[in-house]
Amino acid sequence: MDYFAQPVAKLIEEFAKLPGIGKKTAQRLAFHVLNMNTSDASMLANSIVEAKKNIKYCSICYNLTDIDPCRICSNKRRDDSIICVVEDPRDIVAMERTKDYKGLYHVLHGSISPMEGIGPDEIRIKELLHRLKDDTVKEVILATNPNIEGEATAMYIAKLVKPIGIKTTRIAHGIPVGGDLEYADEVTLAKALEGRTEVK
Ligand SMILES: [Zn+2]
Repeated sequence: MDYFAQPVAKLIEEFAKLPGIGKKTAQRLAFHVLNMNTSDASMLANSIVEAKKNIKYCSICYNLTDIDPCRICSNKRRDDSIICVVEDPRDIVAMERTKDYKGLYHVLHGSISPMEGIGPDEIRIKELLHRLKDDTVKEVILATNPNIEGEATAMYIAKLVKPIGIKTTRIAHGIPVGGDLEYADEVTLAKALEGRTEVK
């Protein structure tokens, strides 16, 4: 980093902290920013600060939102008798792209992973069970990722939800095993949703 003036080195260092950004790319981004005019650079910096300031978790589904409850939870045309459980807010974006799903969501913010020391209490399972306390919800769709952690998480939740008497389904394996929901295309995801089966 000695070759760079200190502010430039700092900028490269910050870019390099982002996921998927190596040292080379971080340098390229930093020099791109330095070539921007001042107003564009300000706009970029401000949009980061504003997004961070105004985005929070929905108090019902834990999706990222600027209003609480979020636009999905507060939409009266959504079917509040179905909750689709996903690991990450990005999975909601993927599900919404299918345009097939009209129910509500619940974001766990992770999956159970003993290897990484993530237990059921570290993700938002309690909050999901809390939402099932009245008779509104008739089906819980488990749409966690089709990998070991995602499967374990789905089974764990099914064990808690089924005794309440709520139908518990798992999306079909249209998605390649080990794959991430967010990378599945709309058609595959719509089919996986349509072909969901009840957890026995
Ligand atoms: Zn919400």
